[in-house]
Parts: sequence; C-alpha cells; structure tokens
Amino acid sequence: MKLDLRDYERFEKQIILKKIGITGQKKIKNARVLIIGMGGLGCPLLTYLASSGVCNIGIVDYDKVELSNLNRQTLFNASDVGKYKVNQAKLKINKIYKRIKIKTLKIKISKKNIDSIIKNFDIICDGTDNFKTRYLINDYCKKNKKILISAAISKFNGHLFKYDFKKRGPCLRCFMPDQPVLENNCETHGIFPPVAGLMGSLQANEVLKTIINLKQDLNNSMLIFDALKMSLRKVKINVNRNCINACKN
Ligand SMILES: [Zn+2]
Repeated sequence: MKLDLRDYERFEKQIILKKIGITGQKKIKNARVLIIGMGGLGCPLLTYLASSGVCNIGIVDYDKVELSNLNRQTLFNASDVGKYKVNQAKLKINKIYKRIKIKTLKIKISKKNIDSIIKNFDIICDGTDNFKTRYLINDYCKKNKKILISAAISKFNGHLFKYDFKKRGPCLRCFMPDQPVLENNCETHGIFPPVAGLMGSLQANEVLKTIINLKQDLNNSMLIFDALKMSLRKVKINVNRNCINACKN
C-alpha cells in the first residue's frame, strides 16, 4: 500500500522526523502487527499503533468488557459492558482511522490454534494476563523466528521485553524456566491504572521502532518500571544454556 495525499497530512508531524520520513511511514503503513490481549496494555498499544498509521492489525481476546475493566482499559466505556472487547475496540479504532484493517479474533489462544492466529503477522505483542499463554506465545515465536514484544503489569510495577527471535538471544524461559505457581496479574493483585497506560505505550514505542528499524536498545534486555519509586531500569537478560528452547548467545 502506498501513501496517499490524506496520509501525508494526517501523519505530517511524524513524517517530518528525519528518522521516520516517507520511507518510514510506508513501512508503518504496511507492517503487520498482532496484539494478543485487549486489556490494560492492549488498549493504549492499539490506540498508538492505529493513530501512527499501522494499517494491518490483528487483535485477539475472548473476553467481554466488565465494569471493573474501565479503570484502565481506556478504549471502553460503560455502554460497552457485556460486549466483546475485540468488537468494541475495532469500532473505536476505525473512528480514529477508518482505513485500518483490523482482524478480530474472539478466541482463546491454544497449542492447536496458535499457528493459524500468529503466522501471518510479523510482530507479535503479548499483553495477556496469565503465564500459560505467555509461555505458549514465547515458545511459538522462538520456534518460528517472530519478533515478540511483551509487557506485563501488576500493582505498581511494569515489565517490558523485546525478543527478536530472528537473531540469537534469550527467551522468556531463559530466566523463568518454569511457570510460577501463583499468577501475578491485575485480577489477583490489583493494578495502578497509569502503569497499564505507560507500559502499553512503551510497547507501542518498541513496535514502531522495530518497524522502522530504529535503534534496537531493548534487544535481550528487560525494562522495569516502578511507579512508586519512579524508576525505570534496564536489566540484561542472559541466555540460559539449559533452556528447553535451545537458546544460544
Ligand atoms: Zn530460552
């Protein structure tokens, strides 16, 4: 897809950035990004990708909007309660930019269906709320050499990872070989709403940088945000030689 005159106007404030330009904007338009989980992370992530001009986006979530989601899931309002998140998200996003092709997938991701869900996308964003799904996505992306940009939030903390499995490097199992016994998510531990907004926006930041091939500082590192201390730290993740995904340096 080429840029048309309306695109030049709509995106002029980012096209004038030398590091983006027309070439970068074309890449953004043609990128294929999948968002798994349309919750506190998925809402800001989808909003920024759409408003920046990503025109091929898949969204996966089988939940309906609940009243207790509204403190952080900013694409939804009270009239959306009881409706499927993916449907409501698509409606809102197409109001921002109607040319975006949004593929909605109202399904629970599983070993059986993961290939058909992910294979046609280049960049995969994980914003899910349980470890079982996180491991499944990690293992699939590792095996199929996808780029995985993953964020997790709980209480006042956020984590962000980027794994470029086209290259050598660690995966989720390298530093967390086994699934923790306790889930650590918004449902069970609570969440400070701006942490969701910030981490979802940082995920969008990394997706867009990956699309236009800007400085890849987060490769093989984890970004940790603490909203109480107001600290943002970057920690290197090492390859674990015993990783069952046979990760290599
Ligand atoms: Zn690994």
